[in-house]
Order: sequence, then C-alpha cells, then structure tokens
Amino acid sequence: MGKMDVVVPEKRTLESKFKFRCHKDIKCFTHCCSNIEILLTPYDVLRLKNRLGILSDVFLDKYTYLKVDEKSSHPHALLTMSDDKDKKCIFLSKEGCTVYTDRPANCRYYPIGQGTFKKDSPEGPVEEEFYFFVKEQHCYGYEEKKNWTIKDWREDQEVALYDEVNREWKGLQLRQNLYGQAGLDEKKQFQFYMASYDLDMFKKYIFESNFLNVFDIDDETLNKIKNDEVELLKFGVKYIKYIMMLEESLKLKDGAEKYQKPKK
Ligand code: SF4
Ligand code: SF4
Repeated sequence: MGKMDVVVPEKRTLESKFKFRCHKDIKCFTHCCSNIEILLTPYDVLRLKNRLGILSDVFLDKYTYLKVDEKSSHPHALLTMSDDKDKKCIFLSKEGCTVYTDRPANCRYYPIGQGTFKKDSPEGPVEEEFYFFVKEQHCYGYEEKKNWTIKDWREDQEVALYDEVNREWKGLQLRQNLYGQAGLDEKKQFQFYMASYDLDMFKKYIFESNFLNVFDIDDETLNKIKNDEVELLKFGVKYIKYIMMLEESLKLKDGAEKYQKPKK
C-alpha cells in the first residue's frame, strides 16, 4: 500500500499460492495501517461516504487529501493519516479498522498488490490484470500457515465488486501514459476529480447546470444515473473519457455551442 521497495517484483496470477494469516492476536495487528499512501478509487469513496452517511464533498474534505500524479497529471484522493507520530490511518482504532466492511480496495488486497497493463494483440491493445506480493518487514502474516491462492484471497476479501466497478476508471490511468497524451490542465483536473470522487457534486452538475442542454443523454441513462450511484460513477468515467478526448463517449446536442463558454 504505497511502499514500493517491498514489492516482490514478479508478476503473479490468480493461481499463485502463498501462506498468510492476519488476525487480532498477531503481534503486528494494525501495523500496516499507519504512515502509508492509500490511493482511493471512486468506488472506495462511494462506499465510505455512504457508510458515514455524509455527502462526497464532506467526506473528501475530512478524510482525504489530494495528490496529482506526476506522470499522468491525474488528481487522486488519498486517505488521510493522522498528525500524531505514528501517522495512523484516520479510520484506525485500538480494536482495528472502524470502517472494516467498507474498507478501500487497497486495504482488502493487502498484502497482495494489483496492477493492470496494456499489451498488443491482433485485435488491438488489450488490458491484462496481474498481481504481486507486498512483503513488509513489520508484517508477520507470511509466517502463518494458512494456504491461499490469490483467487481465494480475492474472494475472501470481497474485492471482485470493487474491481468490476473500478475497472474502466483504472484503465484511464494507463491510457494517458500509453498514448502519450498531453497532461490535464487545471479545468480538466477539476472535472476529472469531480466525476471520479465527488459524486454528489457531479450529480448536481448534471441535473442543475447546463449539462443536459449540452449533452444528448437518453432517458434510460438519465433515470439510471439519477437513482443508482454505481451507474453515476460509471457515467463519470464516460464523461472523463470525453473531456480527456480519449473517446467520443458522449454526444453533443444540436446547438450545444451556445451553452459552452467561449475558450480563452
Ligand atoms: S481504512 Fe481501515 S484497513 Fe485501511 S488503512 Fe485505514 S484502518 Fe487500516
Ligand atoms: S501487518 Fe500483516 S499480519 Fe499484521 S495486521 Fe497488517 S496485514 Fe495483518
């Protein structure tokens, strides 16, 4: 979860085996929850803000900080660590994680890391997911005897839903690098961040601004994004693809120009 020097540099598959057990009585219990960078995905934020019963902007203000990726220029939300000397995760208590059933995908995967790469195929570039082990000195879980495959671990940690919802968004991180596109300017960074993380604000933007005068969105889609936050999140990725000029993922309405601000 952020300390790349402990990544075991070998690509693993779902069938890769390892021994591991994490439990309350282990001497390193919660040691992995301090002083780390935990990059949040859109679905992490959705789950956590609903868990806490607050709006996305309040969640982002209170529990996250912003970091712009140097390579891609994408703005990311990272989980806040406290100011004390241990820099504990803001959700950590003596008993463990206070948001356990809604903890972020990175926390679920740990001590497995997950990545995606693009490779060429006769049908064009395809995305392939891979895994790797993260072995930090403070983690004694690898000394335990329980056998796993990565496939079993993923099931146990219930990450499939997270991966499914976040897949296209994660793909965006690759595409910028792969096609060598120019970085995002400030305005696009704002739009990227809002559509990725600030879903309540994004919903307002769709339904309470000129958005629907500019974009041609069918009623079925509108109904879905009004009533289902996962659909809203997926629509957010389409919007990001549009503003990043990766795909014509949204259609402009006839006469939309008059609602768009002139370029400076
Ligand atoms: S969210 Fe929970 S599991 Fe993840 S680092 Fe914080 S306390 Fe640990
Ligand atoms: S350091 Fe490893 S074994 Fe210890 S609590 Fe964290 S994941 Fe579990």
